Amino acid sequence: MYIYETAVMKQQYVRLTKAFDLKKLKINYACKALNNIAVLKYFKSLGSGLDTVSIQEVKIGLLAGFNPDEIIYTPNCVSIEEISQAVELGVKINIDNLSILEQFGHLYPDYPVCIRINPHIMAGGNSKISVGHIDSKFGISFHQTPHIHRIVKAHNMIVEGIHMHTGSDILDIEVFLQGAEILFQVAKEFTALQYIDFGSGFKVPYKEEDIETDIEELGEKITKRFKEFCKSYGHDLTLMFEPGKFLVSQSGIFLVKVNVVKQTTSTVFAGVDSGLNHLIRPMLYDSYHKIVNISKTEGRSRIYTVVGYICETDTFGVNRKMTEINEGDILAFYNAGAYCHSMASNYNSRYRPAEVLIHEGQDYLIRRRETLDDLIQTHVNVDIFDKVEVTV
Ligand SMILES: *Cc1c(COP(=O)(O)O)cnc(C)c1O
Repeated sequence: MYIYETAVMKQQYVRLTKAFDLKKLKINYACKALNNIAVLKYFKSLGSGLDTVSIQEVKIGLLAGFNPDEIIYTPNCVSIEEISQAVELGVKINIDNLSILEQFGHLYPDYPVCIRINPHIMAGGNSKISVGHIDSKFGISFHQTPHIHRIVKAHNMIVEGIHMHTGSDILDIEVFLQGAEILFQVAKEFTALQYIDFGSGFKVPYKEEDIETDIEELGEKITKRFKEFCKSYGHDLTLMFEPGKFLVSQSGIFLVKVNVVKQTTSTVFAGVDSGLNHLIRPMLYDSYHKIVNISKTEGRSRIYTVVGYICETDTFGVNRKMTEINEGDILAFYNAGAYCHSMASNYNSRYRPAEVLIHEGQDYLIRRRETLDDLIQTHVNVDIFDKVEVTV
């Protein structure tokens, strides 16, 4: 089961908005991090907009009550047909390649667009989550701005926003500011801008010794530069961010039960009733999630390697020190709000977990556990095979 606390989401949202001393600031929650409609509604109640990466996320956002103009759609490598659907729904469109920009200009010259620029900066050290570097598939290289202008001019397009999103780990504020400078350079050549979107990449601590993005320092520096830019640009633009992880990671914990404690010649395994089907970040990104035995908070500690029940090597944590585990104990995984349930699957024909939201002291079930019917409802149970005698 996943459990999320709105109080933590709010604390992060408020912290972020307070870090920027600007009248026109818009935070668009990146809902791929945690896509439950109740969570979307909560961010709507805080005044947040929504960052979406698929037409399905756009539709869930609209169901959650967001106005189309509070939703920005930032897809990558989707078809022009999907983008047309987003146009019909009236949301903000962010385009990240020249081919689509050209097709879009041909079809919808009057529909304002945002352009995703790749500033070629390297945020963080992990190439799996860093998306702004030179070999990244995301964004239009800032070296290609002359091409952008040719297309925009040819179709008389309205560019209302300039965007970058560099990846998931801003460790060095100076690197982020370099990206911002590149974006300002590009932005000053467009005369009809309404906003500049700096994406996300705010890092939160997963381990005690982890560095986190210093939001207050970033806020102070960006605010100063943004005000200067607006002054030279001639009018006040909206500054946008689209954080996912920063807003929800720490709000969530994931609870699992220990099925077996298995001693091998070298290791003590705690095998739990979960696996990469429920939480894939440790296996996909080598991410660290703190794990605590909440059934036993005091007493002797031992070293365990926590593994899942999926027929794959699904190791959650190696050689973790925690209070002695008995079979049946409940373990809690920290930082389970972002990219955990939203990346869950039905691999091994297992059910995805329930989700619970704690809001003002009350707990609410916001996603029920799945059933066998959920698993097979999309299968078409054909009856077309005659028995075949296989003779050897
Ligand atoms: C995933 C994504 C985000 C959110 O990134 P976080 O690291 O979770 O803050 C923001 N913008 C875009 C375009 C994304 O794809």
